[in-house]
Amino acid sequence: MENKTMSSNFIRNIVMEDLKAGKVNQVVTRFPPEPNGYLHIGHAKSICLNFELAREFNGRAHLRFDDTNPLKEDTEYVEAIKEDVKWLGYEWDGLFFASDFFEEMYNRAVLLIKKGKAYVDDLSAEEIRAMRGTLTEPGKESPYRNRSVEENLDLFERMRKGEFKDGEKVLRAKIDMASPNINLRDPVLYRIAHVPHHNTGDKWCIYPMYDFAHPLEDAIEGVTHSICTLEFEDHRPLYDWVVRECEMEHVPRQYEFARLNLTNTVMSKRKLKLLVDEKVVDGWDDPRMPTISGLRRRGYTPESIRNFAREIGVAKSNSTVDARMLEHFIREDLKLKAPRTMAVLRPLKVVITNYPEGQVEMLDAEINPENPEMGTRKIPFSREIYIEQDDFMENPPPKYFRLFPGNEVRLKNAYFIKCEEVIKDENGRVVELRCTYDPETKSGTGFTGRKVKGTIHWVDANHAIPAEFRLYEPLILEEEGEDEGSSFLERINPHSLEVLQGFVEANMKDVKPHDKFQFFRHGYFNVDPKYTTADKPVFNLIVSLKSSYELPKA
Ligand code: ATP
Ligand code: MG
Repeated sequence: MENKTMSSNFIRNIVMEDLKAGKVNQVVTRFPPEPNGYLHIGHAKSICLNFELAREFNGRAHLRFDDTNPLKEDTEYVEAIKEDVKWLGYEWDGLFFASDFFEEMYNRAVLLIKKGKAYVDDLSAEEIRAMRGTLTEPGKESPYRNRSVEENLDLFERMRKGEFKDGEKVLRAKIDMASPNINLRDPVLYRIAHVPHHNTGDKWCIYPMYDFAHPLEDAIEGVTHSICTLEFEDHRPLYDWVVRECEMEHVPRQYEFARLNLTNTVMSKRKLKLLVDEKVVDGWDDPRMPTISGLRRRGYTPESIRNFAREIGVAKSNSTVDARMLEHFIREDLKLKAPRTMAVLRPLKVVITNYPEGQVEMLDAEINPENPEMGTRKIPFSREIYIEQDDFMENPPPKYFRLFPGNEVRLKNAYFIKCEEVIKDENGRVVELRCTYDPETKSGTGFTGRKVKGTIHWVDANHAIPAEFRLYEPLILEEEGEDEGSSFLERINPHSLEVLQGFVEANMKDVKPHDKFQFFRHGYFNVDPKYTTADKPVFNLIVSLKSSYELPKA
């Protein structure tokens, strides 16, 4: 599985052809996040693509921070992004900050001015937008478009020196206001922002725009295949224009692929930040978040995310992937790895009246029946145990095979017990069951005397460890459409988190953050790194055991 090539990946084919034809000697890719938030599962797709290509073809993959917009960027995000990329299992062959190249970019802008290919414009952002034209109408030229080279050089230098206020002037490329591609209608290259930058401090008050900075960064770093999402397809002519007109020695090429969309999932840093700022979640790493740090805290493994990224492949048209596909891969990964133990999430006390008082026996159980190499464990059994509240019904419907008055069930790894008496509190709520057990029925002794239809799990009440369980449902109800703004906040699932207090087996006293288990009949759980204390482990539900979901056929 791990070395399987991406199921379908047209960019990989392009790289192979370019290498074969000698168009490139070594493939160089980059993952270029803007440090304005935490990475999400969509970014993981891009990370896997870029780093796997470099790995497969003995190339280089760079991690580059596209930090050209100081308003929203922060070193907290820089550090979080590095941690996430490493955690996914990748090492970059070069670490770059776009801001390290501001001087070089400035010089290239000066070159454009000297060539008559750029000019300083005094129009406001609104005026520029209004004069840009539409898909059917050409744009109008700015009255400042034909300033002399000398005047432009002087104004641009004074922009850099801080002589003008934010928005007072911009530097624009001089291309073609009638171009059918709106991106070529004299795009803005530089804007003024008197804002300190996380990396360059107060050194600059003009900042390059994405469309100018990105191709230059790629060219400076020697990137061969600059892979981005489909929205940038119409920007490619501008990308090529910048590389050409700035006379960059190395010529990178841009390729676009479909971004990952997942059902029931918001996946834009801006929206995820809103969830954090509005305290809908307890941070960027809340286990309900589709961020890499959230998935990690939930209990996803790097392998499961990489296998998911491989399976979805790399296509050229947008589509939405069923979120259950990601769940499929974590189940696959944990199936043989995670120890299987018992946990009672909603405890109901059971007293086994014919079991000797004070007696404790240690029962044998396999750690993972599907992986016998994991060995066995001992579980204590005594006169008092906990079972799940919903494994008992006083008046059961037909075909209910769990406990009810007079019925007998198997306790997993232990004995048959029969319900003899139901104890209720003054409100009529069932608070305890009195049962008897049959010593002949001990698990593993080959008892065949009679059969029972139900097997339930339990923990020994005298040795069990109190634990908290955090169960999750999707954070957002319904599918996420194209809607803008904050309306998705109205579709927050009020039941996305349920917190329960129960018990786990005695041998789980020393669990550590990120230990993963399969709780019999419940699902896979991860020890939460944030809330777990020395006294009480806290478990996040990673995923339930079963799903009707099947992988789409290739
Ligand atoms: P967002 O809109 O979520 O903030 P972004 O594209 O603005 O995402 P960047 O930090 O600019 O975030 O993205 C870094 C890289 O990750 C880019 O190359 C971008 O194309 C890629 N990327 C972002 N979102 C996705 C996605 N959903 N699927 C695949 N690649 C993505
Ligand atoms: Mg962005």
